Parts: sequence; structure tokens; C-alpha cells
Amino acid sequence: MKSGEKFAQNLKEFCKRMEIAGDSESLSKLAHKQLAQIAEMRQSFEAPVDTMGCHCLHDSNADIQDQHFQTLVGGVLSPQTKDEITAAAMKRFVSKGCTIKDVCNQTTDEIEELIKPVGFYKRKAVFVKKAAELLKSDYNYVLPNSVKELCKFPGVGPKIANMVVQIAYDNTEGVVVDTHVERISKRLGWANETDKATDVAIKVQDIFSRDLWPGINRVLVGFGQKICKAPKPDCDACACSHLCPSANKKATNTVKTISPIDIEDCPDLRMENGTIVPIVPKPNRKRKSSDSSENIGFLD
Ligand code: SF4
Repeated sequence: MKSGEKFAQNLKEFCKRMEIAGDSESLSKLAHKQLAQIAEMRQSFEAPVDTMGCHCLHDSNADIQDQHFQTLVGGVLSPQTKDEITAAAMKRFVSKGCTIKDVCNQTTDEIEELIKPVGFYKRKAVFVKKAAELLKSDYNYVLPNSVKELCKFPGVGPKIANMVVQIAYDNTEGVVVDTHVERISKRLGWANETDKATDVAIKVQDIFSRDLWPGINRVLVGFGQKICKAPKPDCDACACSHLCPSANKKATNTVKTISPIDIEDCPDLRMENGTIVPIVPKPNRKRKSSDSSENIGFLD
């Protein structure tokens, strides 16, 4: 059985357990409704990713080529490291000289001192130095605008490459699946427990239209940092719990039921000025003109 078929079967079984007539339309609607609920929740709180994520790590006064390089450096430093630590390291690095020319002239020992204590800082110092040298020797200081080309850089895999081209060039080649997106996608039933991050990316991209891909990472990362945490999610604080097959799973070990009405009345999502905006189901009341919750953006 192909992985896509297995995934569809998985979700069908999930829907069956929820006493929903599971056809492919309702499966997609369920995932959209889950994401809409999460997107709506994300409007009510700020998470570390919002102010310290990779999109915040460059010096906006630097030359554009160096800004792109700093975004790449932030991406290389970020794995196995909390946003707070990466952001502090980048602040130090930028203040002491984090341009392509600066880094070509620095020793790896000097770079290590600046980026400590990010995880695997010794290896990452080597990656950063080689990236600067490669940009100078092979790319005339211009960061390549393609995931395939960026993956040639040391320490850069598809996840970081996707994120960097998205931030630097507004070029979305795929959904960025990090540890938060992977975990939450599995908890929500979009992917199987045994799926690798690359499989999760394919499945999430199958479910959601391309215009939603750029916002999915930041919505889910912030949600994962504050509510759907590893290892213990705060399901009591989660507005999506009535739609989630993993809600309070360990605590109650009961099969949850979802009213079919939740699926039929499914909201949708749209992109507006680069922002994912949930279209919340219309309540049975007259909306006041001041009630603008449908249009509040939270991604910049
Ligand atoms: S109900 Fe719990 S496991 Fe499910 S998405 Fe919400 S926080 Fe995560």
C-alpha cells in the first residue's frame, strides 16, 4: 500500500471512530477545521517563534546579501536549540560581525565563542564558515534561491533550506516540518506515528492548498511551544480538543466522539497579506461591527 493510501485509510478509521461517515471530502474538512481552530487560538497569544524565530534573526540594516546570509546562519544554528538561545547567539554574532566577508576572515574558534551555547556549536561553526566561503567562491555572495541548491551547503537539509528561501525570497517550495510540526501533525491524525519528517511534509502538503503552506509552520510551532507541547500537551487549554484524536489520550484513554455537525459546519482558511486567516463558522447571532475576530492577522 502506498503511503498516501495508508494515510487516507488512517484518517478514515479515525473518522469512523468519531462516528463520522468518512469520505475524502470530510477528511480534508476535518484537517482544515483543526488548523482553523489552531490558527484562531494563535491569535490570542505570542510564542517564542513570533519574536525569536528564524525570520527575526538578521540585521535589517545590513546589505541584502548579508541579511540573507544571516538568515541562513540562523537556520544552521537553530536545530537542537531553543529559539531563545539561537536568537541570543545571533545577536552576539551580528554585533561582532556576521557578514559573508567578516566570517571568511574569522577563525572557527572565534565563531565558536560567538555562537556558544547553541547545540553542536563546534560543528555549526565549521558549517557557518564553509557557507560564507562557498557563497564568496561559487555564488558571488548571492544566496541561491532554491531548496536543491541550498542543500549543497554544509549543515543544510530540506527543512532549513525550505525555511531560508521562504524567509529570504518569499519562495515557498514546501511546508517546513520541524519537530513541532511533525509532532502536532501526528497528534491530529494528519500523519502516522512512524512517519519521517519528509513523509509528514508530503502528507500535509497533500491536505492543504499551496497558498496556506507558508503560514503552517509558524502557526503550529507557536502552538507547539505554548500548548501542544512535548511530551505533555495542555489539552485542557486547547480549543481543538473536541476535534483531536490525541486529546487527553494518556489521561483518559477513552475514544472521543465528535458531532457530525462539527465537520459539516467546517470553516476554511485563506491567506490575506501573507497571513493565515481562519474563517470561523458564523454563529447564530448578529455580528456587531466591532467584532473583527475573522480578520485579525498574526503573521507578518
Ligand atoms: S487536544 Fe491536546 S494533543 Fe490534541 S492538538 Fe490540542 S493540545 Fe495537542
